[in-house]
Amino acid sequence: MSKYWSPVVNDLVPYVPGEQPKLDNLVKLNTNENPYGPSPKALAAMAEVIGDSLRLYPDPESVELKQTIADYYRVTPEQVFVGNGSDEVLAHIFFGLFQHEQPILFPDISYSFYPVYCGLYRVESRAVPLNEQFEIDPSDYAQPNGGVIFPNPNAPTGRYLPLAQVEQIVAANPDRVVVVDEAYVDFGGDTAIALVDRYPNLLVTQTLSKSRSLAGMRVGFAIGDCALIEALQRVKNSFNSYPLDRVAQAGAKAAFEDEAYFREACDGVIAQRDRVSEALEGFGFEVLPSKANFVFARHPERRGEDLMTALRAKGIIVRHFNKPRISDYLRITIGTQEQNDALLAGLQEIL
Ligand code: PMP
Repeated sequence: MSKYWSPVVNDLVPYVPGEQPKLDNLVKLNTNENPYGPSPKALAAMAEVIGDSLRLYPDPESVELKQTIADYYRVTPEQVFVGNGSDEVLAHIFFGLFQHEQPILFPDISYSFYPVYCGLYRVESRAVPLNEQFEIDPSDYAQPNGGVIFPNPNAPTGRYLPLAQVEQIVAANPDRVVVVDEAYVDFGGDTAIALVDRYPNLLVTQTLSKSRSLAGMRVGFAIGDCALIEALQRVKNSFNSYPLDRVAQAGAKAAFEDEAYFREACDGVIAQRDRVSEALEGFGFEVLPSKANFVFARHPERRGEDLMTALRAKGIIVRHFNKPRISDYLRITIGTQEQNDALLAGLQEIL
């Protein structure tokens, strides 16, 4: 703290990202990256840009990428916003699409960037408790609010809310923007993009960091009514925040064009998730049903933090949250078959 800091900075409680250690011999299952690499076609498209045109500024409007995403989801390019990771997209949403006089609603166990953005933009928030089974109850989101946001599947629980219930929340808030953060939807959920043409207050965000294996590149996007997209574009341009760089635009476009690779990678993660969940249950863990590329599990006889530390000593990194109600849980990213073998062998030795 310094006397030169503004009161806003004094009050900030910044987001703490998961550890990103050097990979030497570590089994890294702590930040929900995709264990399979990006599409070879995406890598080739990026290599071409690097060899060819990095001296040129990128297209400030990402026209080709937006068209590709629009075609993929059968919407128009005017319904698509792209940003440097969905975290940037979320920042613009909190600033520009939520009404700041009333509290923003999100689940109490959810993505921890939401309260950070509320702090940054000085927006009130209300954390709505999940039910006993860690599910979102749509009827809790009919109370007065300045906007609603929730991940689907939720993070870090992995629990998925069926589209009919998502729709219930959207329909209950016709005068507020409802944001469905679908960072993990490609691992078995249905996207709410199917609903955007019916609900001008619905905005869906997604990322290429998980199912398309490009976390290091930073590309996220939002799809919704043109008026919502126009607001995000205004905010982005007012912050002078940068368009996607050339490498990102080319890589993201090519990733969307390689459907076969995308399907194969997602199916691989889903198959491994089912296998890991079953094996964990065999070890006595309670595992929440997950539609994401991670599982959330607790052992009734072992403290979550102890398990995390013991795994760490074996070079296996998983995520633990020191928060009420979930402090005994581990969030374990689904890795390759070999990584998951190492995780399960490590746990067997510890338990
Ligand atoms: N939403 C949720 C629920 C997440 O877990 C993450 C990843 N930490 C993000 C958004 C942000 O993803 P990115 O900025 O990599 O697109």
